Amino acid sequence: MPRPPKPRSICEMPKYSVFGPKGVYMNKLNKIEMSIDELETIKLIDYSGLNQEEAAKQMHVARTTVQRIYEIARKKVSQSLIDGAVLVIEGGHVVLCDEDCEICFGRGKGLGHGRRANRKD
Ligand SMILES: [Zn+2]
Repeated sequence: MPRPPKPRSICEMPKYSVFGPKGVYMNKLNKIEMSIDELETIKLIDYSGLNQEEAAKQMHVARTTVQRIYEIARKKVSQSLIDGAVLVIEGGHVVLCDEDCEICFGRGKGLGHGRRANRKD
């Protein structure tokens, strides 16, 4: 049996999950599914300005993994922008980051933030 992939660490769940061209009926458009970890690479690299090495460290995966899913994610974004496909953000093998996360700590989140309340450890 193949080993299940290592979960990718993310800081928070995406705020928005569906994107597409305005003024066109959704059911007339192609749909592209983007996993949450794919979106996270775009967030860390394009939005936050991390390099692939730093993004890999942040997500607790190998740099080659980040490189691979980042390329897939970029391809999907371009298909949505050019072809007007609806981008649906869902799924993916992810876990929320730990208390020692530098990004969350830097934002002053950490303990006391709402989503930590349900954690057992
Ligand atoms: Zn974090």
